Amino acid sequence: MIIPVRRFVATCALGALGVALAACGTPGTPHAARPGHPASASGSANAQPPRPPTLAPGSSGITPVFTNGPRTKDKIVSLTFDADMTANEGTRAAAGEHFDNPELIATLRAFKVPATLFMTGRWADEYPKEAKDIGQDPLFEVANHSYSHYAFTDNCYGLPIVPQERMRAEVEEAYTAFKKAGVPHAMPYFRFPGGCYDQQALRTLSAVGVTAVQWDVVSGDAFATDADAVARQVLEGVKPGSVVVMHCTRSAAPVTEQALRTIVPELRKKGFRFVKVSEMIGSATQGERHGTT
Ligand SMILES: [Zn+2]
Repeated sequence: MIIPVRRFVATCALGALGVALAACGTPGTPHAARPGHPASASGSANAQPPRPPTLAPGSSGITPVFTNGPRTKDKIVSLTFDADMTANEGTRAAAGEHFDNPELIATLRAFKVPATLFMTGRWADEYPKEAKDIGQDPLFEVANHSYSHYAFTDNCYGLPIVPQERMRAEVEEAYTAFKKAGVPHAMPYFRFPGGCYDQQALRTLSAVGVTAVQWDVVSGDAFATDADAVARQVLEGVKPGSVVVMHCTRSAAPVTEQALRTIVPELRKKGFRFVKVSEMIGSATQGERHGTT
């Protein structure tokens, strides 16, 4: 069955390896939001920091979906980076393929850009030191991109499909991997692999207590070879409240770090401030009405 979400996804052209880090935009409106919704499945330690803002669940408690923040004069933008690694890519990593991107993290730090990383559990298992280092840096927040980076619907870039009875475990096992790596406070935000979801997946995850996070700006960094083209696409797409999807993996998004060197100063020149997804969701839940596109 074709659903609107998948129609958006299907318009996204990717290379042959796109299954590993598929990403496309699904413009939309956040659900009616209210602060303080309990987030039960962060998997993080029972420690101090205030509970991150989440969207209120939809009808029957269905997992809410966040796409972008308020289109207000407060020009904030969230850069998000998917740290993709698919469960069956271990042999490729063992053969020397790099699914991480330390230079990108270093550049974000050098530019002092707060950012949210949607990490797979498999990535955290492969790069535990980096996962911990990112997770302990207040500049960043770690969110959930499933354990295996398998699809939660069929027809999602040829990704292997998670059976419904495994969906919840896919999210929970990623939190377990973060914890094991030493990430202290993973966020209760979940990005579907490939951005592919449907009502059944949202319903199945409702007990996990996460807010699903999509995006309204596709950077096009997957398999890109032209950093300027990526930068241009981002700069043309960003509006106040935008959430930009990019990737944190050298092997399949090799020019992202270079593109950032243009994107960051240019957006700042236009008056934008970078915020993590938690702040973006927080600004969307502060009671103000926000626009739809
Ligand atoms: Zn991904």
